[in-house]
Amino acid sequence: MKILVIAEHRGGKFKKGALECIAQATRLGGEVVALVIGGPDAKAGAASLGKQGAARVLAATADWLERFNGDAYARIAADVVKAEKPDAVLLAATLDGKDVAPRLAAHLDVGYAPDCTKVEAEGGRLKLVRPLYAGKAYATVKLNSSPQLVSIRPNSYPLLEQEKGDAAVSDVALSISAADVRSKVVEVEAAKTEKADLSEAEIIVSGGRGLKGPENFPLLEEFAKEIGATVGASRAVVDAGWRPHGDQVGQTGKTVAPNLYFAIGISGAIQHLAGMSTSKVIVAVNKDADAPIFKVASYGIVGDLFEVVPKMTEEVRKLKKG
Ligand SMILES: Cc1cc2nc3c(=O)[nH]c(=O)nc-3n(C[C@H](O)[C@H](O)[C@H](O)COP(=O)(O)OP(=O)(O)OC[C@H]3O[C@@H](n4cnc5c(N)ncnc54)[C@H](O)[C@@H]3O)c2cc1C
Repeated sequence: MKILVIAEHRGGKFKKGALECIAQATRLGGEVVALVIGGPDAKAGAASLGKQGAARVLAATADWLERFNGDAYARIAADVVKAEKPDAVLLAATLDGKDVAPRLAAHLDVGYAPDCTKVEAEGGRLKLVRPLYAGKAYATVKLNSSPQLVSIRPNSYPLLEQEKGDAAVSDVALSISAADVRSKVVEVEAAKTEKADLSEAEIIVSGGRGLKGPENFPLLEEFAKEIGATVGASRAVVDAGWRPHGDQVGQTGKTVAPNLYFAIGISGAIQHLAGMSTSKVIVAVNKDADAPIFKVASYGIVGDLFEVVPKMTEEVRKLKKG
C-alpha cells in the first residue's frame, strides 16, 4: 500500500499529530511519502520526517505559502495526489487538517473519514474507527473510493520506538500561484502563551464552573505544573471570561486525546465529552456523585475540589521527593 501523509508544521516545526500519522502509516507497511506545504522554511526539517518512516518527502514551498491557506493547500495536495497516485492519504485531524481534508475530498471526488482513532490495514484496504455522538458510539468505516482519505485524531498513535534515518527531500513544481487562490490570510496573531498546545499535551488538567472564579485557577495551575500538564477549561468557564478561548475543550473548542485527563469541577455535558472522551485515562473530581462526568471517568473522586486538588498536589510533591 502506498500512503501519502500531508505533514502539518508551523514554520518548519512538525506537529506531533503529523509525526504520528507517518508512524502509523509506516506500521501499516508499504511505501510512505510525506508532503510538506508551506513557506521556504518548511523544507528545513523536512528530511527528519524519514525518522518516522517516510521514504521520501515532497516539498511544495513558496513565499506566498508561508501562511496556512486551506484553499491553496488543498489544491496543491490534490495535484500531488494525482501525480503520486497513493492508495491512501493521511493527515492529522487538527484545525488545519479539518480545513484541508474536505476540500481535498471535493477536488479528488473521493470519500473522507474524519477524526479516526484507529487506522488498520485489512485486505489491502484501510479499516477505520471513528467516534460518534461524543464518543458514545464508534463507527467502523471502510472507504470505497480511491485514494482513501483519512484524518487521524492526534494522540491516537505513538511515534516509532526505533527511529529511522533521514529521508530525501525533493521539490514539487507548483501548479498554482498566489493569484489563483480565492482567499488570503492577511494576519495571524498567535496567543501569547508559553504553555504546550492542548491538542498535543500528554496530560491535561481542565477546570469547570466548579472553580467558582478565575482567581481559583492557580490551584489547578500549581497541580498541573507538578505533573507536567497543560491547563484546559470547559466552555462555561471560557464564556464567563475566566480563561481564554484557546483553553476550551469540547465540541466548539479543541478535541483532545491525552494519556491522562483531569476534569475538575466539570459536570460532563455532552458537548464537553465530545472533546475529551477518547482520552486514555480520565480522572474526575466533582462534589456531585451523580455528575455525568463520572460515567466516562476511569477514576472518580466525589469531593470538594478545594480540598481534593491541594491534597493531590501535596501527594505528588511527596512522591517526587521520596
Ligand atoms: C452548541 C453548544 C456547544 C457547546 N460546546 C461546548 C464545548 O466545546 N465545551 C464545553 O465544555 N461545553 C460546551 N457547551 C456547554 C455545555 O453544554 C455545558 O454548559 C458546559 O460544558 C458546562 O460547563 P461546566 O461543567 O464547567 O459547568 P457546570 O455544568 O455548571 O458544572 C459545574 C460542575 O462543578 C461541580 N462543582 C461545583 N462546585 C464544586 C466543588 N467545590 N468541588 C467539586 N465540584 C464542584 C458541580 O457539581 C458541577 O457538576 C456547549 C453547549 C452548546 C449548546
